[in-house]
Amino acid sequence: MNIEHMNLLARGIGYKSYAAYLRSDHWREMQAKWKQAHCFCCHTNSRLDLHHTTYDHFGNEWATDLVTLCRPCHDKVHALIARTGLLEGAHFTVKRQRATRMGKRRKKRAKRKRKQKS
Ligand SMILES: [Zn+2]
Ligand SMILES: [Zn+2]
Repeated sequence: MNIEHMNLLARGIGYKSYAAYLRSDHWREMQAKWKQAHCFCCHTNSRLDLHHTTYDHFGNEWATDLVTLCRPCHDKVHALIARTGLLEGAHFTVKRQRATRMGKRRKKRAKRKRKQKS
């Protein structure tokens, strides 16, 4: 899913480009309606975007097509999509990677603590 493809999709439903779509009243409405207060991956409440998990209903999105992501997590999700071509489930993968990394860090810290005690 690259920008040319996105522009094509947007033109298919009557917008000049994907950027024009993102500036549309429809998309503004979608954001007002579906954007959550926290990022799906890391739960921050700053710099939130609404991300498409699928473009199957592009232009008439369902609630389940959209997920709220902060800018850094959104970038990670799109990097993953660019690398793997995976769109549906990409946000879950990033969340899982994040959880695994945090888990490892926690384990390391726990190990250090144990060492200090002995
Ligand atoms: Zn985030
Ligand atoms: Zn996105």
